Amino acid sequence: MNIALHFEGEKLFAETEISFDENVPELSFILNSGLEISGVSCDEKSAEPTIETVYEPLFCAEVKKYSVKCGSDFGRVKICYSGKISGWHNIITDDIIELNRYGVWLPCEMSCEAERFLTVSGCEDYFLVKGEFDGSLWHYSAGEWDMNIIIYRKSKLQTVSGKYISIYYADNSLNEAADFSKNIFEDVLDYYTKELFRKEYSGGHMEMACLYPALTSGGAYKRDGLIVCISPGTDEKEAVGVNAHEMAHTWCSGADVGSWEDWLNETTAEWSMLLYCLDRNKTEIFDAMIAEHMEKSPGFPPIKTADGSRPEGVHTKGTVLFYKLYKTFGAETIKSAIRIFVGLEAKTTEKLLAEMRAQGLSESAGVLEKGLAQK
Ligand SMILES: [Zn+2]
Repeated sequence: MNIALHFEGEKLFAETEISFDENVPELSFILNSGLEISGVSCDEKSAEPTIETVYEPLFCAEVKKYSVKCGSDFGRVKICYSGKISGWHNIITDDIIELNRYGVWLPCEMSCEAERFLTVSGCEDYFLVKGEFDGSLWHYSAGEWDMNIIIYRKSKLQTVSGKYISIYYADNSLNEAADFSKNIFEDVLDYYTKELFRKEYSGGHMEMACLYPALTSGGAYKRDGLIVCISPGTDEKEAVGVNAHEMAHTWCSGADVGSWEDWLNETTAEWSMLLYCLDRNKTEIFDAMIAEHMEKSPGFPPIKTADGSRPEGVHTKGTVLFYKLYKTFGAETIKSAIRIFVGLEAKTTEKLLAEMRAQGLSESAGVLEKGLAQK
């Protein structure tokens, strides 16, 4: 996939060329509703896309679903489009740009497979996180589902690097915070690999992209080798939060994120962070984080839904449920539950509870089972 990208103000201009392994009679795809398509061609022949539906995919901005036909089969399509981008954690500013799957800025959910290795032109003045620059073009592998593209103007980019992490940011006010965050990251990794998960870290060099001041709220997320956040943490609590929760997802993941089962990913990641706080005597941070969850929890519905959908607040609800377990059975039980989850082949609540019972944690499994249905 080749893409020529340029930016003006808050707008994105893209010319995307997609090649298919075999010729196809038609192509359908989705694209952010805020983007206008100005031209489509199939094997150089101009075509008129039709809009089939408008909807909001889970977690994403509103999209239009298009279909393109050309009268005969084609093996290559070129789509030109431009406009403002919406969606969680999507922003275009002069110095920092973040586009991701939630903003559906590239054609996706395509009816036919195409490789997602991007060659990006038009971004010579920028640094593309996790990209490779050959002197004129950026090369970038967009994941199967993801299409994060995080770009800093080269003249503004600041980097703090450690053995396992590079932190990128574009605002001098974050110098100290980035340095501090790097040290927290290394300490967190030490705790996770030596004590909690007792597994070597094989995730490769981590890159943390900080969006401040382009974005000032919105939280953080983790992908392979990448943490995307607002700031590296302006105080210790924030630095622990972003590093320890997001890094825990290296191990704490695999349950279906689109269903209520996502409580498993989020609760085990959050509690990995809380266990780190306990181990390193950061009890004030532990207490403050628990207090925040306790306060928010009553406003959310039960974790387990009748139709399997993902209710709001599973992260908080699950953390409070584990807190109940912690108060009754102690930190070792929480560690065991997390390790059991990490070791499961099929990451479901049913399997977790069964394995906990098999390992002599029946009472704890009972508390969890009951708590999942409670408001
Ligand atoms: Zn998380």
